[in-house]
Amino acid sequence: MPTTAAQAPAPRPTRAQRRAAGKPHPARSFFTVAAVAALVATVAVPAAFSAAGSTPAEAAVTTVQQLAADNAQSLVVASEATPAALARGGYAATTPEEIQAKKDEEAAAAAAKAAAAARVAAAAAASADSSSYTGAIAETIAPAGSVVRPLTSFNNFGTPYAGHKGIDYMADRGTPLYSIADGVVVASDEDGPGWGVYVKIAHNIGGQSVTSLYAHMLYGSRRVTVGQTVSAGQLIGQVSDTGRAFGTHLHLEIYVNGSWVDAESWLVANVG
Ligand SMILES: [Zn+2]
Repeated sequence: MPTTAAQAPAPRPTRAQRRAAGKPHPARSFFTVAAVAALVATVAVPAAFSAAGSTPAEAAVTTVQQLAADNAQSLVVASEATPAALARGGYAATTPEEIQAKKDEEAAAAAAKAAAAARVAAAAAASADSSSYTGAIAETIAPAGSVVRPLTSFNNFGTPYAGHKGIDYMADRGTPLYSIADGVVVASDEDGPGWGVYVKIAHNIGGQSVTSLYAHMLYGSRRVTVGQTVSAGQLIGQVSDTGRAFGTHLHLEIYVNGSWVDAESWLVANVG
């Protein structure tokens, strides 16, 4: 028995000591029990709520996954959450087969779109600080038609020199800038490395990956965003002197299959 074991040790407190020490014990014990009970209640109540709430939540998650899955039979299982999902999607289909077909179609389209966007974004990020674009242009960008000049008029242009991979076309502030060909915008930024406001466009020209970069543009003049498809001659912004520039001009860089080319010579050979 516990009492026998408690009485056995020699240094046990006397009855008086226990009485003296024992006075506050009932109260302490009560508060201790109350505190523990409160703790248990605090923990137990939300746990009970979450336990009760977890079942429909898990069912809803499972239902969404099932709706996205290829297996049409899972839709039959997920009958309860289906009306809500359909209401959100606004589908006109009525049979489970029709619903599943639309879901599959939409999921496939969304996945393809997301994958394409991810490829462009990854390639754009990888080449954000360099002039050329390293994405797989020929496979992802529609072939371009004719090539045009980025400026309809300019005063003169500078020749490239060491460390300067571009041609500087002197033009007045605000002069319109145009895409040299059909393509996809892979960079569009207000604060490029030395370029200031710039736009970079990837093209598929004759099966070659061509990148055109337009720098020192006017603040707030950009008309295109990354991922946007543009046409030859489409307005993309205006000339200025943002970034490292002395005087308003267009700094144009052109890369073919990742290698820099003399932009003016390339335009002369390709425009028209
Ligand atoms: Zn320049």
